[in-house]
Parts: sequence; structure tokens; C-alpha cells
Amino acid sequence: MPAAGPPLGMLAELTHRCPLQCPYCSNPVELMKANRELNTENWLRVFAEAADLGILQVHLSGGEPTLRRDLEEIVACLSARSVYTNLITAGVNLTEARIAALSEAGLDHVQLSIQGADAEVTEKIGKYKDGFAKKLKTARLVRDAGLPLTLNAPIHRHNIHQMRQFIDLALKLDADRLEIANVQYYGWAYLNRSALMPDLADVERQVEIVEAARTDLKGVLNIDFVTPDYYADYPKPCMGGWAEDAFVIIPDGTVLPCHAAQTIPTLTFDNVTETPLAEIWQSSPALEAYRGYDWMTEPCRSCPRKELDHGGCRCQAYAVTGDAAQTDPACILSPHHDKLRHVAEAAVAAGEDSFTYRRI
Ligand code: SF4
Ligand code: SF4
Repeated sequence: MPAAGPPLGMLAELTHRCPLQCPYCSNPVELMKANRELNTENWLRVFAEAADLGILQVHLSGGEPTLRRDLEEIVACLSARSVYTNLITAGVNLTEARIAALSEAGLDHVQLSIQGADAEVTEKIGKYKDGFAKKLKTARLVRDAGLPLTLNAPIHRHNIHQMRQFIDLALKLDADRLEIANVQYYGWAYLNRSALMPDLADVERQVEIVEAARTDLKGVLNIDFVTPDYYADYPKPCMGGWAEDAFVIIPDGTVLPCHAAQTIPTLTFDNVTETPLAEIWQSSPALEAYRGYDWMTEPCRSCPRKELDHGGCRCQAYAVTGDAAQTDPACILSPHHDKLRHVAEAAVAAGEDSFTYRRI
């Protein structure tokens, strides 16, 4: 296999701690406590190594990354190396002074998650009192600080009827971008799949609304749309291809090709406290496992779309077929494609309405 080219992007999950308890959270069900997180010295060393490796942008995520008191130091370290920084936050504990400090440190962009388009849905999903009002305040403070703002709306059965309100809210808050992301079923979301799965009619209505808004608001609001796998005909190019140009580091320093990769039990992962990041990127067994195209089975192996979608998601292939090298069942050409649709229909029919809320 040829040597990997330099990575461009990195998702750094600085902590699993979070004041919210979203049942769709993509963090693993076994969350890490604070005592397992890398210390400041280690994070700063890793980010310096990442910059040396050629990383152009880092997404600072969690959990809630603002719970790390060293966030300004981390942003400054990356900014000094000309790395673009995107803060992914639930936005319930950011003060004006903290936003100013992060901006001063060189923060480039804020992505604010929003659980619903009104207080009732936001607080029901996040299980956090006054969360909606706090998020609106944070959005305004971010824009007042002159930082670009993306609103991120994870979509499921309990808020899929709020599409127009999400779009209106993004306009009202002067967001640059709205990301409408149908929930992907990993971690806590997998645990809550029956209670979160939307039905096909609502998904079709959603697609119509989003597509119309994308046309109407061209040049005003960028709308990104992450379609729902369970009703798709073709899969998404997960992470732009396995260990192709991006990777994830979780709070204890373990390096993953994607945030759900630990659900594949045959993989062996490396940790930045034991191995230099450059070596991990080039030769970690987990990153090498599905890099490129040699691992592919049919129908992907001879498919003309393989460079577009890289065969989809390995974790979903494993979850549904028991073999991570199989075609993602979201693909209509997969012999397991019907299973995904049946799971979705059974989940909707079950009508489960109570959540297992995320907790650490
Ligand atoms: S999805 Fe919710 S619980 Fe999970 S990290 Fe984001 S805000 Fe916190
Ligand atoms: S067969 Fe594989 S490469 Fe072809 S469209 Fe489906 S997932 Fe993509």
C-alpha cells in the first residue's frame, strides 16, 4: 500500500463531559471521566505534531470542549501555527468574556448545536433548563464578537417537523451556515434508535423543505444537509474515506479513523501518549485497515462510484452485516440494503417515546 498523504483535518474530542444529556449523542455509551483526559501539555504537543504533519483545520469538540479550562491555550497554539480552528459547542456556558478570550486567542469559527427550534423541544432533548435562551444569547455574542457562526441542528423524530423554524432561526441569528444533520445511529443514538427514528413521510417532507430553502436562500444562508442513511439509496463518503485525509482523537489520546470506529472489535488503535502522531497516521493498524480500495469486497470493488463514496461507512457495515469490509447497507447495491429499511420501519412502528439520556 502506498504511503498516506498528509491529513488535512482533525476532530479533537477534548472531553466527554457535557452539561447536556442528548439521547442522540454520538459519543460512546462508555464515556470517559475527566481523569482519563489528556493534560494540557499532551494536547499542546499533539496539536504541534498535527500542525507539523500538515493539518489545516482542527474541530475542537467533545462532549463540551469549553469545559476545558485550557481551551484558549489550545486555540492559541493552533492559531500560532496557522491552523484553522472550529469550536463545536452546545453554547450553554459561554460568557461574553470567554468568547472574547477565545477570539483573542485566534479562534476562527463557532459551530453551535441546537436541539430544537424552540425552548420546549431544545430542553426536552438536551435535558437542560433554560438551554434554548442560553444558546440564543451565545449565538448573539458570537456574532457580536465578529466570529462566523454555523448552527448545527441534529434531526430526528422529535424535531423533524421544525425544519422551517430552524431555517428562520438561523436567519434571525445571522448565522452564516445551517447544518441540518439527520442523526447517525452510533453511541447513544444507537441506544435510542427506536425513539429517534423519523418516518419516511416526514423525511420526504424534510427533503422538499430543505431543497426549496437552499434555492430560495442562495447567497443568504448556506444550508448543509446530512441525509438519513436508513432511507438512502447510496451511502455518504464517511470522513471523506477511511483515514484518507482526516482522523479523530478522543479524550485519552487514542487516534481513530472516525468517531465510531471503536465499535469494530477487530481493530487495534494507537495512542498519542505512546506513539508519535506522524507514525500513527502512516502505520496505525486501525487506520491502515480500510484505507484506499484494496480491502473492498464486491459490489464496491468493481463499482464506478467507489472513489465518490469509498464504499460508505465501515461501522454501519459491521453493525448490520457483522463484517466491516462489506458494502455499507445504506447502498441500494448491498445485499443487506433491505435490512436497514426494515430496522427503520420497525423502529417507527414500535413508537417508543422515552429516551435513555446520556450520562457520564
Ligand atoms: S450531542 Fe448533546 S450531550 Fe452529546 S456532546 Fe453534544 S451537546 Fe453534549
Ligand atoms: S457498491 Fe459500494 S462503491 Fe458502489 S455505490 Fe454502493 S457503496 Fe458505493
